[in-house]
Amino acid sequence: MKVVLLGPPGAGKGTQAGRLADSLGVTNAASGDLLREHQRKGTELGKLARPYMERGVLVPDDVTIPMVTDWISAPEQSKGFVLDGFPRNIAQAEAFDAELADKGGIDHVLCINVSEEELLRRLSGRWLCRNCQSAYHEEFSPPQKAEECDRCGGKLYQRDDDRPEAVKTRIEVYLNETEPLIGYYSDASILRKIDGEAPIDEVARALMAAVRI
Ligand SMILES: [Zn+2]
Repeated sequence: MKVVLLGPPGAGKGTQAGRLADSLGVTNAASGDLLREHQRKGTELGKLARPYMERGVLVPDDVTIPMVTDWISAPEQSKGFVLDGFPRNIAQAEAFDAELADKGGIDHVLCINVSEEELLRRLSGRWLCRNCQSAYHEEFSPPQKAEECDRCGGKLYQRDDDRPEAVKTRIEVYLNETEPLIGYYSDASILRKIDGEAPIDEVARALMAAVRI
């Protein structure tokens, strides 16, 4: 069972990928985690990726593609996998298809849809503690005192990435990149769209139902 999860930042892909993989008895990974793992191990690919990650820009395909294709060909992934954060453009999708051609290709591409308004609500309310890195959310898990950490009393701050303007940009980047992928996989008729605004358990059930079809 080879599954790809698509969805904007804030759609809950990471959580859902883990749950779906557990239900299916396969492994899961996010392309960002693979990048960090390569860096930690100091591999060639990790070294190539470092300057891009430090600048916070997208790591180029000639690093990302071999990294993911290495991972999917490892014995641990022989029963299948759930992958999120990859592919994110047509070049990556084509490389992925070529790699999987003799293994039956991707079985399902599941796109978790969340409206831009809801993504803004979820993402732009995040606050972190400067001292212990505890995470809070203005609406879903607010601290007891404004801008102060419940655990350690540290001062809370918003990452630049989580400010409304930056969140809007992240969503736009995703939409521009991924829109063509939706078309690409619709043509291959393996794409299903899942409502990501439902409660977490319901989204998990819908994903599981989609791969059983
Ligand atoms: Zn704290």
